[in-house]
Amino acid sequence: MPSVNYPVELSAPDISAYMAGNTGVDYITRIDSGKPGPHVMLNALMHGNEICGAITLDHLFKNKIQPTRGILSLGFSNYKAFLRFDPQRPLMSRYVDEDMNRVWVEERLDSDEDSWELRRAREMRAYFESVDYLLDIHSMSTASPAVTLCNGLDKERDLTRKVGFPEHAAFGSGFVVGRRLIEYTPYHDVNDPKTGLLVECGQHWLKDTAVTALDSALYFLKALDMVAPEFFDAHVTNNPPPPLRELEITEGVYSKSNAFRFTEQYIGMEVIEKAGTVIARDGEEDIVTPYDNCVLVMPNHSAGAKMRVVRFARLSE
Ligand SMILES: [Zn+2]
Repeated sequence: MPSVNYPVELSAPDISAYMAGNTGVDYITRIDSGKPGPHVMLNALMHGNEICGAITLDHLFKNKIQPTRGILSLGFSNYKAFLRFDPQRPLMSRYVDEDMNRVWVEERLDSDEDSWELRRAREMRAYFESVDYLLDIHSMSTASPAVTLCNGLDKERDLTRKVGFPEHAAFGSGFVVGRRLIEYTPYHDVNDPKTGLLVECGQHWLKDTAVTALDSALYFLKALDMVAPEFFDAHVTNNPPPPLRELEITEGVYSKSNAFRFTEQYIGMEVIEKAGTVIARDGEEDIVTPYDNCVLVMPNHSAGAKMRVVRFARLSE
C-alpha cells in the first residue's frame, strides 16, 4: 500500500538568530539561572526534516524562557540538513550524509571516518556530556499518537513517569544499528544519573505535532522543576495531561526485501487483538503479530530492504 501523503501544515522557522549562541558551538545556547540545579537540554533537529522541535525552541526563545534553577540549553543538531528544508519536497532534508541519530558510538566518533553528521556530532559531543537531563525532540512519518521512547533503564522509566507527557511511552531497545543520542554512553550508563529521553511528537508536518512538541518540552522542564508555573500555564495546551500508557517493546521487525508492504495503512499504536494476524507481506513472506493484543509502534511505510519497519510492543498492566 502506498504511504499517505500528509500536508505540510507547519512552516520551518528562521533559526539564523540562534546560530552564534553563547557556548562556542554553533546553534547551542545556554541559559544560566545563576542558581544551583541540573543542566537540562532540549535538543531539536536531530533529523533535519523534523521541524516541530525547531518550532518549539523558537517559541521558547521568543518568549524568553528562563530556567528557575540550574542551566537550560537549547540546541539544534542537524541544522545543515534542516536549512535545506523545502515544503515541496519535505522528506529530503532528513540528513546530509547519514542518519545523525545512529552515530553516537565512541568507535565512530573517535575514528577518522568523515561525514557531515559525524563532524557535527564531534562538535556537540562534549556539550552533551555536560548535560544531566536531555530531551531529544523528534517526529514521525505517520500521524501516530505521540510517544516517548527510551531503552527502559530504571532512570529513564522514572523520568518518563515524572514527565507524564505525551500519553504513550515505549520502553525497550530501539533495535537500531548504531546508537541514538539517548544511548550515548553517559545517558546509557546505569551508574551515571544522566538521563536522555526521546519524544516522537506526531507526524512531521501536522499542526498538532508542534503543539505536542512544545507541551513535551514544558512537561519535561516542569518535572525537573526548571520552569516557572506562570510560564508553564501560559504556554501549555494539554493540561491536565492524559494518563500515561506504558508499552514494553519486545522486538523490532526488519524488512528483508524491497517488497515489504503493510496490509493496512497502520499509523502506529494500533492494538492487534489476535496473535498470528498478518500485518504485512515481505515479498512472499507473511509478517504476523507474535502475541495477542500486540501494539504496532511507528510503522514505516516507505522502507526499502533491511530497514526497521515496525516495532511490536505489549501494553503494561
Ligand atoms: Zn527523528
